[in-house]
Formats: sequence, structure tokens, C-alpha cells
Amino acid sequence: MSQYTLDLTGKVALVTGGSRGIGKAIALALAEKGAKVALTYSRSADAAEEVKTAIESLGTQAMIIQADAASFEGANETVSAIIAEWGGLDILVNNAGITKDGLILRMTEEHWDQVMETNLKSIFNYCKAVARPMMKGGGGSVINMGSIVGITGNAGQSNYAASKAGLIGFTKSYAKELASRNVRANVIAPGYILTDMTDALDEKVLEGITNATPLGRAGNVEEVAAACVFLASDLSSYITGEVIRVDGGMAI
Ligand code: NDP
Repeated sequence: MSQYTLDLTGKVALVTGGSRGIGKAIALALAEKGAKVALTYSRSADAAEEVKTAIESLGTQAMIIQADAASFEGANETVSAIIAEWGGLDILVNNAGITKDGLILRMTEEHWDQVMETNLKSIFNYCKAVARPMMKGGGGSVINMGSIVGITGNAGQSNYAASKAGLIGFTKSYAKELASRNVRANVIAPGYILTDMTDALDEKVLEGITNATPLGRAGNVEEVAAACVFLASDLSSYITGEVIRVDGGMAI
């Protein structure tokens, strides 16, 4: 039998923005494979509490922490709290993200800054905070949530696309720096996935997106979580610095 498995029993994972949408699905999928899961949220305390209960009902442990992903101190405090409680950290999923869409002529400086801080600075915050503990612990897996838009660009999303393209360059550099210490880092680039984030889009835009997707439908959060579990596990032990599209073929 292969020594490489999806089993995450005994592993400790942190998912940022795990209270809703893709992050919630990832937190539950990692827990299903046996990991202890800590998740952060910014506002949805009740939803985060529900995810914690759901994780515990899968027979593993959960921790919820309110922490703005854009806060450098918040990232350090979160990682320290997890290590104090569970003794280490093996898997980091930088999932928290926002959109503040607008064509460039209308985009405000505030919307540029908010998106860059939440989507890109957060990646630096958490990747830096886990680097030393993961190296000390003999390795780890970091998964940064990009977007297909970071590869193709999208009118009305120059701030968002820049943040998601930026994290690809960051992840490849980080992967090169930490590979010798067995810390892997990869990006998942989802296409159109049904969540609160895409709920905000109008019907016409959604129809256009579906028509542009070779598989002919939106993706669901579990399909993104499946790729994340793969990247978190030993099944991907020889994969680092990679960008995996989960987009129904949209960017072929
Ligand atoms: P949702 O809006 O459904 O959920 C966002 C999650 O991130 C929530 O748990 C939210 O917490 C959390 N969050 C937002 N801002 C912060 C913050 N400052 N600090 C901590 N947590 C925060 O988004 P999705 O699930 O759709 O998206 C998740 C990720 O996937 C994002 O990075 C997004 O860019 C990416 N993505 C999504 C796609 C899609 O089609 N849905 C496509 C491509 C990429 P709270 O509940 O407390 O607000």
C-alpha cells in the first residue's frame, strides 16, 4: 500500500475566514480527514460557533478565533494561541478574502486598500507567522486562496485581480524559500463558486460566467475543499509552488 494518504489524523490546521462559504467547507473537509481545526472570522460569530460544533461532531477538536486577516498582530496572536493549545501547526489555509468591485474610473483608494490588505497582506501576515513553527515542526503545507481572476484579469475587479495575482508571486517565492525545510506552499484558483460572495452578482453576469465555463455550471464549495484537502495531505508531498485551478475549465 502507498505511504501517501489523505489521512490528516493528528495534524493541526488553521483556516482563515472559516465561518462561511469556501472556508467553512475547507474547515469541515479537513476535520473529516481527522485534523484539529482552528478557524478565524471577522464578524460572523454565530456562524463560526456553528462550524465549531459541526467539526466537533465529526469527532475532532475545533477552535474559533476572531481575527481580522489584515492585522499582522492578529495573525501572530492567532498562531501563538493555536500552538499554545495544540503544540504545533501543520496546515495553513489562507482563505479570507473580500471584493470591492468597481471600474477603475470609479474605484476609490479606500476600496483598493481594503482589498489589498484583506486579500494580500493577510497572506504575508499568516505565512510569516507560521514559517518558524512549521520549520521547527519538520514541515507543513500552506494553501493560499487565489482566484482565476488573478490569472486572467477581470473588468471591474482590478484591485481584486491584483491581490490574487500578487499572492501567486508571493507563494512561489515562499515555496522556494521554505522547500528545504519541507514546508510546501500552493495556490488554489477557483472560478465561479456558489457562495455569499457570488450571491451578490447580478443574474446577467452569472449567466455570462456559466456560459464561459466549459463544464457548464458553477462549482460548489466542496469541490474547492477537495483540492485543498489534497494539497494539505501527503498525497501532494512532491507538489510545491503550484497553482491549481478549480474553475470548471474557465481559464483553458
Ligand atoms: P464569503 O464572502 O462567502 O466568505 C468569506 C469568509 O472570509 C467569511 O468567513 C468571512 O468572515 C471571512 N473574512 C472576510 N474578511 C475577513 C477578514 N478581514 N478577516 C478574517 N476573515 C474575513 O467568500 P467565499 O467563500 O466566496 O470566498 C473565500 C475565498 O475564496 C476568498 O479569498 C475569495 O476571494 C476566494 N474565491 C471565491 C470565489 C467564489 O466564486 N466564491 C472565486 C475565487 C476565489 P465573516 O463571516 O466573519 O465575515
